[in-house]
Amino acid sequence: MPVRPALFLAATLALGTAASCAINPVTGQRELALISESQEIQIGRDADRDISQSMGLYEDAALQAYVQALGERMARESERPNLPWTFRVIDDPVVNAFALPGGFIYVTRGIMAHFSSEAELAGVLGHEIGHVTARHGVSQVSRAQLAQLGLGIGTILAPDLAGVADVAGAGLGLLFLRYGRDAERQADDLGLAYMTREGYDPREMAATFEMLARASGAEDGDRIPGFLSTHPDPLDRRERILARIDAGEVDGSRVDRDSYLQRLSGMPFGENPREGFFRQGRFHHPELRFRMDFPSDWRTLNQKQGVQAVSPEQDALLVLTLASESTAAQARDAFARQQGVTASGARGATVNGLNAARMEFQAALQDGGRLQGTAMFIEHGGLVYRILGYAPEARWAARSPRIMDAIGSFRDETDAAILAVQPRRIELVRLPESMTLEGFHQRYPSTVSMEEIGTINRLRAGQPISQGTLLKRVTGGQLP
Ligand SMILES: [Zn+2]
Repeated sequence: MPVRPALFLAATLALGTAASCAINPVTGQRELALISESQEIQIGRDADRDISQSMGLYEDAALQAYVQALGERMARESERPNLPWTFRVIDDPVVNAFALPGGFIYVTRGIMAHFSSEAELAGVLGHEIGHVTARHGVSQVSRAQLAQLGLGIGTILAPDLAGVADVAGAGLGLLFLRYGRDAERQADDLGLAYMTREGYDPREMAATFEMLARASGAEDGDRIPGFLSTHPDPLDRRERILARIDAGEVDGSRVDRDSYLQRLSGMPFGENPREGFFRQGRFHHPELRFRMDFPSDWRTLNQKQGVQAVSPEQDALLVLTLASESTAAQARDAFARQQGVTASGARGATVNGLNAARMEFQAALQDGGRLQGTAMFIEHGGLVYRILGYAPEARWAARSPRIMDAIGSFRDETDAAILAVQPRRIELVRLPESMTLEGFHQRYPSTVSMEEIGTINRLRAGQPISQGTLLKRVTGGQLP
């Protein structure tokens, strides 16, 4: 579902009138606060609703409850115990964690799969709690950043094409607010304090940074966005934590390795092809049972809220999303009624035997130019799909033939092998005897590289592993 920019614009407009002095809960110092605590909570709540919808929550009630309980236990003993602390696991393969103002904290299933203990999870939750208690989000989030949070792909009301393409490139990176070096250090220190207060071993937080450094250096390291991989360097942060441990400033012994790992059994690892995948330019969606051919040299992006493709010249866009109306004609008419959209040629249609409705449209661009586009609404499997293809008016004639071909390729998926595809999943193995990482990978092969198995188990090549150790392997998921 598309996100709604209006919420964020409303929230940020309020900023201008609310500047005042407030006491920082962590430092106890007075500082200029742009927004009050209740406004901070409201911004967090609004963004939380959009993030939960657009990124999707990982569907495992027991795991969600576990993360909530752990995070809440730590946050209730922090400097801001009374915030509406909310901890969620997002159904995203990217390795990430982030916090929103007001106490809303997210870890992805990707980072959960990379942790090897509850203490590691506690360290990262503690770090994110630290950003909230120290009000980093509040003092450093610029109005522009907040406005961008809600800029969803495929909303015709933000029709600056170049801008849309940039957002597509950044993916959800905009959500992961960049803090300065000092703020990250402060969050590390607060995280260490919160985790060790619960008795967790701070060495596990140091190990997390080493794991993240390895994961971000891997071949597909671009799956790890700004969170911990850019600045400050994760290995510098690890050294700093180890120095504090050596100086006796923080201590703890609780690790909870096996009980944590048991919770990961069966968790999807990496992209979940059931939510749609590309093979060359063809997009397959096994769960929703359709396929569509995008122009093969266009850059494509599959996200929870839809699929989009951008022309190599970045002057045309195809966007496939779900409409909320119950018929194609209703969806078309609702689209035509939008502010800023001039519709023409509304008519019925059939696409590969599926009932559809279509129209042409124009929309004003921010720079004074105009967009020309076509909109097709297709009924399939009890849902209505909205496919928009558009370009600046002057480029439309050149781009529309391929857009039309793509739209006309939407059809029912009937390939049994595609419909049956499954994600790769985590499987646990308790070693029957001691062996090395190489021996483990040979005896219990995975559908990811040995390097990746080493990273997610915090193991080095050649390192002996004792009998009885519980390890993760990754199985299944081969595409047909
Ligand atoms: Zn941080």
